[in-house]
Amino acid sequence: MKDCIFCKIANGEIPSTKLFEDEDMVIIKDLNPQAKIHLLLIPKQHFCDITEMSDEQAALLGRCLKKLSEHVDEFGLSEGFRLVSNKGKHGCQSVPHLHIHILGGQQLDDKMC
Ligand code: AMP
Ligand code: ZN
Repeated sequence: MKDCIFCKIANGEIPSTKLFEDEDMVIIKDLNPQAKIHLLLIPKQHFCDITEMSDEQAALLGRCLKKLSEHVDEFGLSEGFRLVSNKGKHGCQSVPHLHIHILGGQQLDDKMC
């Protein structure tokens, strides 16, 4: 989608630190990390959030999470991690292209908000 920063990151128009890439997604380092390890899983297809995804995009997201599960050790997340996907105003979503925050590399707070 034109003018979408995460579409541009996914297709390489905007540089990023990519840790993983395949036909479905990229996993990059967040520019403004909120934990020792803060990655973003970004599907290459543009859709805003889970309330807008088609059945095919839901299957795509499932594949992305499965592949993430196979790489957690190499990302330094073997002690555990947290997945977050912000949606809308209350969720403080700032980029309207679905993405999953992957937080870890340290003991996280047991409070989530
Ligand atoms: P959200 O607020 O949930 O929409 O998350 C957007 C995330 O994207 C924030 O954590 C930002 O730090 C991150 N971000 C924005 N621009 C970039 C970029 N060019 N490269 C990497 N991360 C970015
Ligand atoms: Zn996009």
